[in-house]
Amino acid sequence: MDIIRSIADFKYKWKQWKQNDVTVGFVPTMGYLHQGHTSLMERARQECDIVVISIFVNPLQFGPNEDFEQYPRDEQRDVTIAREAGVDVVFIPDVKEMYGSGMKTNIAVSDITSVMCGANRPGHFDGVATVVNKLFHIVRPDKAYFGMKDAQQVAVVTQMVLDLSMDVEIVPCDIIREEDGLAMSSRNKYLKPEERKQALILSDSLMKVHKWIEEGVTVAQLKQLITAHVDVVPLSEIQYVALYTYPGLKELPAKQKVMDIQETIIVALAVMFGTTRLIDNVVIYGGEHRV
Ligand code: AMP
Repeated sequence: MDIIRSIADFKYKWKQWKQNDVTVGFVPTMGYLHQGHTSLMERARQECDIVVISIFVNPLQFGPNEDFEQYPRDEQRDVTIAREAGVDVVFIPDVKEMYGSGMKTNIAVSDITSVMCGANRPGHFDGVATVVNKLFHIVRPDKAYFGMKDAQQVAVVTQMVLDLSMDVEIVPCDIIREEDGLAMSSRNKYLKPEERKQALILSDSLMKVHKWIEEGVTVAQLKQLITAHVDVVPLSEIQYVALYTYPGLKELPAKQKVMDIQETIIVALAVMFGTTRLIDNVVIYGGEHRV
């Protein structure tokens, strides 16, 4: 496995590969790898000749009061995990290599970035779209793998690729969870023991969603039920409980029965535990609850 830190070195490597007409699969990450990340690498390994991952904590996608400085980093451990997952190249640029003395270009995807995490984290998805765009220009993958843990990010990247006619297939991958249900995340490390226990309320409430839908709840009632369920644990502070079409993230009529909705929808939530922000979601495919 190669570790490449410069854009020029990566591009040189790419030209060598492409002499042999190989397919390149790409998994962009911010490191501190866990099984959520390795599931994407394994999928890429199955589907592509060459697997590239990037490790880059992208300052553009963090707000001024967010955890950029504290974000967990452990390069040595990450490299070992990547090697074990059969990765061919780990691309680890530093901020200077990626952004030089500053970026004057910004990629902004509109509309679908104004709700959910986009509403709570202004500028976040511009930072994501900009870095993913730049990484796609460097890595030039045939396929890129993203986790549905960040479902809005999947929607944003897919829209960008469509709008800009980019030659890459976006592959959404299932959410990987801890045994007790908590969605894996590099940020789970921040949780204090009591917060970790109470954080189970996210997956727990999402697991009840199908039952509630089958009972005939409306859009507004489903959001209220989830909110009330999460509010029961004292350390939780809800940022949003959302229900939209997916991936278009369009509003749904409050009084509509969820079981009657024909489109694919997402039920998503973001909850703070102390200073740690956790997200989770479930996607319900068109008419799954029709009888
Ligand atoms: P991050 O390092 O948090 O930027 O995540 C890199 C990629 O891994 C993104 O596409 C995430 O959606 C994905 N990912 C993170 N956690 C999980 C998880 N628990 N299950 C599946 N994919 C995940």
